[in-house]
Amino acid sequence: MRALIVEKSEDGKTSASVQEIDESRLPEGEVTVRVEYSTLNYKDGLCIGPGAGLVRTYPHVPGIDFAGTVKSSEDDRYKPGDKVVLTGWRVGEVHWGGYAEKARVKADWLVPLPEGLTTKQAMAVGTAGLTAMLAIMALQNHGLRPENGEVLVTGATGGVGSVATAILSNLGYEVAAVTGRPEQSQYLSLLGAQKLITRDDLAETVKKPLEKESWAGCIDAVGGPMLARVLGQMKYGASVASVGLAGGADLPAKVTPFILRGVNLLGIDSVMQPFENRQRAWARIASDLPMDRLQGMMVEATLEDLPKLGADILKGKVRGRVLVDVN
Ligand code: NDP
Repeated sequence: MRALIVEKSEDGKTSASVQEIDESRLPEGEVTVRVEYSTLNYKDGLCIGPGAGLVRTYPHVPGIDFAGTVKSSEDDRYKPGDKVVLTGWRVGEVHWGGYAEKARVKADWLVPLPEGLTTKQAMAVGTAGLTAMLAIMALQNHGLRPENGEVLVTGATGGVGSVATAILSNLGYEVAAVTGRPEQSQYLSLLGAQKLITRDDLAETVKKPLEKESWAGCIDAVGGPMLARVLGQMKYGASVASVGLAGGADLPAKVTPFILRGVNLLGIDSVMQPFENRQRAWARIASDLPMDRLQGMMVEATLEDLPKLGADILKGKVRGRVLVDVN
């Protein structure tokens, strides 16, 4: 079977290449899956490249998500021929992942392919898209409705941001998209964004802890000073779903928006989500994400393309979603 293998040399440098390996080298697990598609997420960039403490042992097969067909199963929940999806559980980090023609994982980590989606569409969505849906569900559970006003999406041309923009707009929300790539305005408006805000507009660190109340909700893939600034611009009682740290893990913020405006900061994690929540989120994706918009944000790639694409996503150079055909 073919796989993207990352090796580490004695001087600590990593290198990735496509190699032919024996299936017997796959890690332990109850279910062996013939992988059809995987994707590229920010974390994959780290695991293809420097590892960033996520990868424990080398040689390693990255790929934090995949979709495919069950080849064999020692668990009653799955049988050969079943279509399945995997995201999270540190697969592609501590456990070998989806950048291979086959993968072996625990049955608990899988979900059946959601009705209405192909394996290709599921991976065009991928972990980034699932996380965008989890964020939207969290905001809705905290009262977000289209009539409340504009919803801000940061890192808008990235994977999480693109899927969040397309779903929110399809649900009738007015989306204000924050991007460092204003030349992508046409792309963002095709996804449904109605307003474009440049990264520079939100770049300053917090000077005034409270600014004009502007946003009814926010999906934030960036973190850092931008998230701190956004907190002070939220409407009374509104929520921010914190998803990512593309702009930094620090949060140089004041508590004022929480205690004077009742603003909520909601943490979103996709990795350890319980099975039922994953299924709920995938079902919502199948119903709420227009497939033509998904097609418009997706490019296709092969295993051989991944070393370059992995470096690109860490530099913020990848737009939308990258679908990886591993075969
Ligand atoms: P992408 O690289 O596709 O998107 C990130 C986007 O953020 C970029 O496209 C860019 O958008 C913007 N950006 C990049 N660098 C900076 C910067 N220095 N300052 C401000 N904006 C920046 O990644 P993903 O969409 O896959 O992931 C986004 C984040 O979400 C990552 O931090 C990732 O680790 C995290 N994540 C978290 C998950 C969870 O379970 N909580 C699951 C999946 C992802 P633009 O050019 O439009 O400004």
